Amino acid sequence: MEPNELYGRLREHLNNFLMGMPHEPTLMQMLKVMFPLDEAEIALKIPMADTKLSELEQQFPEVDNLEEILMRMVDRGTVFWNQAPGKEKVYRLMTGVGGWAETPFWGGRDTPQAREMAPLYKNMKTLAYSKALAEGAPLVRVIPVMESLEDSSAVLPYDELIPKIEATKFRAVAHCPCRHAANLRGEGCDHTVDNCLHFGTFARFMVEQDIAREISVEETIDILKAARSEGLVHVANNMDGHLESICNCCTCGDCYWLNTAKDINRDVLMESNYVAKADEDTCTLCGECEERCPMEAIEVDGHDCAEVDAKLCIGCGVCTICDEEAIKLVPRETIKTPPNLMEWASQRMEAFKQRKSE
Ligand code: SF4
Ligand code: SF4
Repeated sequence: MEPNELYGRLREHLNNFLMGMPHEPTLMQMLKVMFPLDEAEIALKIPMADTKLSELEQQFPEVDNLEEILMRMVDRGTVFWNQAPGKEKVYRLMTGVGGWAETPFWGGRDTPQAREMAPLYKNMKTLAYSKALAEGAPLVRVIPVMESLEDSSAVLPYDELIPKIEATKFRAVAHCPCRHAANLRGEGCDHTVDNCLHFGTFARFMVEQDIAREISVEETIDILKAARSEGLVHVANNMDGHLESICNCCTCGDCYWLNTAKDINRDVLMESNYVAKADEDTCTLCGECEERCPMEAIEVDGHDCAEVDAKLCIGCGVCTICDEEAIKLVPRETIKTPPNLMEWASQRMEAFKQRKSE
């Protein structure tokens, strides 16, 4: 098969899953970096659901070293594997975002592959891809910093991170792919990079592959506290009862989620159920919150107190480090409940069917 046809078919294969993969020049270039020709041929027949090695072997009767090729793809960062105790090994093809777009960066290494991917990762912020990621139910949502709520007793159960972290069986920290890629491009910011949190089976896989480090519940909470004091925004997967990852994002480090939401497509992430509100009596118009807001949602000049644009505000709470304690998060009028895993999948499936029928 001609290379262009092969990568076109690989793109279609990836587009047939819930995450979507539109025909975009940058995405096509990324596929070529991450999937050498022989591995692209194999990838065409690997599902995105866990599949036993014996089942995959039936798909490739002509390939006698399939496991070796699959493990090469694992090491390159395009295939996930897992083996539960007493069970057969399973493999699945990774998605782009949350998968092979980021595996070159999670380990914090400076490799030729990471250098080649770094500018592509920046240019991956496109309207078409962000729409595919947002359709049905956005992949991620903003989690407010608890201390920033006006009434901390009013916190909604799915916004409480600590109990969810305490309930996790396995935790890992990796490098922030966005800031590491920006550093490799010479465009990095001053924020720390060792704070990309992962949980459960995928976290185990990352530790196994040496692209993340296992951490305790206490260290996870310490990392979140440090992220808060750096002015980073907590962005978690948008599912109730299922914690997979928490990014700690900024717009100065060219974060995929925040910069796409700010500059390209606001719908790529779900805002928290809170919005910032300043108090006219105590605000001194110092402008500190305006400077800190990653979404440029606050304006001070020409107002009686810091003015928040509720449409731009994502309810992160980064602005609430105010000497006068004059700005806090208050609940929005309409509360949006994150879907559970089944609801999330069915909402995305509906949107996917709609997309395919258009
Ligand atoms: S809300 Fe606080 S940080 Fe913002 S302008 Fe007023 S006093 Fe300054
Ligand atoms: S105003 Fe800005 S910093 Fe404050 S909660 Fe909204 S988005 Fe976050």
